[in-house]
Amino acid sequence: MRDAVEVINGFAARGGAVAALTRDGDRRWVLGDPASVSAALGVVAADAIEILAGVRSGALALCASPTCRAAFFDTSRGRTRRWCDMNTCGNHEKKARRKARRG
Ligand SMILES: [Zn+2]
Repeated sequence: MRDAVEVINGFAARGGAVAALTRDGDRRWVLGDPASVSAALGVVAADAIEILAGVRSGALALCASPTCRAAFFDTSRGRTRRWCDMNTCGNHEKKARRKARRG
């Protein structure tokens, strides 16, 4: 665990991305010009710190699709979200269930 914490903190410290406020009141990351992999990893690390430290309201979950199992951050009320993305895995699962019912 200590090594993982150091890796996350290291990427967060040297990332170089800057948080910016949008006119809609959202946060947007500015990766620099040209954008670098280091800046992108810094954003991932900053997000990981917020999630692991409990700053964000939500829960880590795994996609219910047996062929995906991607990790996602569930911010739904009641934490009942099942798929990483409704347009991909969610629709695949719905279609599969419909097909199975029809036989
Ligand atoms: Zn998925």
